[in-house]
Amino acid sequence: ALLITDDCINCDVCEPECPNDAISMGAEFYQIDPHKCTECVGHFDEPQCQQVCPVACIPFNPEWRETREQLEAKYERLTAEK
Ligand code: SF4
Ligand code: SF4
Repeated sequence: ALLITDDCINCDVCEPECPNDAISMGAEFYQIDPHKCTECVGHFDEPQCQQVCPVACIPFNPEWRETREQLEAKYERLTAEK
């Protein structure tokens, strides 16, 4: 999963780009639900939020590293829930 840091300027550009609705406004800045973020696996070749963020404040979450297989499994689970 990816992570939004406190460098976020709350511009709201990333939120509508997320195919998994994983991004929402948090207490002070935007946040990513790691249970919903597939790093865009299943939807796009690149993480869409990273592509659009004007201040590059969306790194990979060092405490939430997943393999390609795990991300694909999450994508399958999220798709089945819809
Ligand atoms: Fe959403 Fe993709 Fe960003 Fe994860 S990497 S928060 S799935 S846009
Ligand atoms: Fe924050 Fe970047 Fe998303 Fe804008 S695009 S709300 S700065 S994380």
